[in-house]
Amino acid sequence: MRAVTIAPGQPASIALQHLDDPEPDTGAVLVRALAVGVCGTDRELIDGVYGEAPPGRERLVLGHESLGRVLVAPPASHLVPGDFVVGIVRHPDPVPCGNCAIGEWDMCRNGRYTERGIKQADGFCAEHWQAHPDFLVKVSPALGIAAVLLEPASVIAKAWEHIEHIGERSRRGPRRVLVTGAGPVGLMAALMGLQRGLEVHLLDHNDAGPKPRLARALGVEYHVAFPSIEIDVAIECTGAPAIVEQAVARIAPGGIVCLTGLSGSRHGSCIDIAALNQSMVLENRVLFGTVNANLRHYRAAADALAHADRAWLEQLVTRRVPLSQWQEAYEKRRGDVKTVLLFED
Ligand code: BGC
Repeated sequence: MRAVTIAPGQPASIALQHLDDPEPDTGAVLVRALAVGVCGTDRELIDGVYGEAPPGRERLVLGHESLGRVLVAPPASHLVPGDFVVGIVRHPDPVPCGNCAIGEWDMCRNGRYTERGIKQADGFCAEHWQAHPDFLVKVSPALGIAAVLLEPASVIAKAWEHIEHIGERSRRGPRRVLVTGAGPVGLMAALMGLQRGLEVHLLDHNDAGPKPRLARALGVEYHVAFPSIEIDVAIECTGAPAIVEQAVARIAPGGIVCLTGLSGSRHGSCIDIAALNQSMVLENRVLFGTVNANLRHYRAAADALAHADRAWLEQLVTRRVPLSQWQEAYEKRRGDVKTVLLFED
């Protein structure tokens, strides 16, 4: 079978390889890949700045945003051949820590978790792949290609869950949210904000192309400069230090800043801890980070996608690249929102 692989830590080692099909495993579900989404993490992996191969191996199969069709499923599983599924990225650490032991692997405490296509476990960018049934989420065929957005949506479903928990400390509750970055993650954050009945603003530097169009079609206010409004919740999805800094500086008293993007190690930034401390304490502000998602978040994300406008969701997939032209999927092009590598027409 064909698979897209990298040698983690070695820039530009990406290649399309012919690998053996997965060994038959009676406890696992065999999946035929349909599509894999490409995101910023994949670019970091390709650049050699992130990721780890499985133990004893030099290469890692890429791909953590999946969509596939079940070919073979164990008889007692919740799946049958023909089901459409998305693979869960993170697997609990082997110890397991207190959080992994109860299925909250997104909150792993010892860092020994694995992540498919990212850290010590092969990803989904292969014509066939396997997963334990507990690490597969069934998705509605009605979602079509948009189901490949489930993984990034799960990360945001978790962010919203945590924002809501934190928001409960104030009886007033958040009303206005600013999302920074109109990529797939930012657009998902905006969608889920609207689904919660909040007033949603979206900030991005693109003043033309699909991002402002998608934002307006969703019904959120789109800004190309930081708006001068009172913001109760900021969901930061760019990882750009200057935007993170503005979000922290501009959040209203009692407000919550949720960080979901990575800045990479290239950017140096100087934090005035005293000023940050003063602002957090004197005005009850909260700044927190969030990563990954557990099964509950995948389910919440599936619900959010099911309640979204299908045509709008499909427009997030701005480029579909067949496996025969796989290199193009990893190029960054103007106007890209979500690029998807297709394993079947
Ligand atoms: C993935 C997460 C993962 C994170 C860190 C993100 O791109 O969506 O599932 O936990 O990278 O590896």
